Amino acid sequence: MYLFKKISSLRRYLELFRNKNRPIGFVPTMGALHEGHLSLVRQSLEAAQCTVSSIFVNPTQFNQASDLEKYPRTPTTDLTMLYKAGCHAVFMPSVEEVYPPGLETQVEVDFGPLALPMEGRFRPGHFDGVAQVVKRLLDIVEPQKLFMGQKDYQQFLIVQHMARTLELPVEVISCPIVREKNGLAMSSRNQRLSPEQRERAAALYQTLQQAASWARQLSPREVEAKAMEHLKSLGLEPEYFELADGQTLQPVPDYSSPASVVACAAIWVGGVRLIDNLILK
Ligand code: AMP
Repeated sequence: MYLFKKISSLRRYLELFRNKNRPIGFVPTMGALHEGHLSLVRQSLEAAQCTVSSIFVNPTQFNQASDLEKYPRTPTTDLTMLYKAGCHAVFMPSVEEVYPPGLETQVEVDFGPLALPMEGRFRPGHFDGVAQVVKRLLDIVEPQKLFMGQKDYQQFLIVQHMARTLELPVEVISCPIVREKNGLAMSSRNQRLSPEQRERAAALYQTLQQAASWARQLSPREVEAKAMEHLKSLGLEPEYFELADGQTLQPVPDYSSPASVVACAAIWVGGVRLIDNLILK
């Protein structure tokens, strides 16, 4: 496995694959890796001849300085995990390498209603930062395939929208959510939870599953209200719990009209913010 910190040397390495028309798969991450990240790497290894993963905690997508500061960083373990998984190359740039002074990296794409609800509502500016870093990394790596987790459902739709709008020559692929035994979606942020909090946080997935059964009798708004109450009664602090159209992320009036329905939620557990989702239809 090769480790690159500079764009120029990464590009020189990737030229070898490009010259032979060998597809490149790309897995961008913010490090503090877990099995969820590795599942993306494995899917890339199956679909492409060269798999590049990046580890970069992108400052522009954090709307709170303290959140950025507290974000877990475990670079040595990350590199061992990627090596063992069979990843070909890792890109671990500095902030200056990604955002050199004088280079315009902001993305001028209108995400419209996609960016307004849920994460967009509670983390203003977050998706501008996500689009900025993903576009910049795509310009550097120029992969044929980009692997992203369904765990960040809205993020996947935003990046897919950006790729389509800018006609980027990349296929954006959504990969299933990997969970702990108790159902908790794996997340780098889980490292900040105590064992007791990890158990309590598993109620988020259980509530998403319950929402699927409540939806047989209750309207979408009633399910949302019930889920919020349920999470609060368990001592969790839900930020939102929404049943949305799986394509547009707008609230669904009923279950029959949209082609797909997804339940998305964010909660706080002991100062740690967690998100999860479940496709109901
Ligand atoms: P992050 O390091 O949190 O920015 O995540 C990097 C990529 O891994 C994103 O595409 C995430 O959606 C994906 N990812 C994070 N957690 C999981 C998980 N539990 N299962 C599958 N993919 C995940």
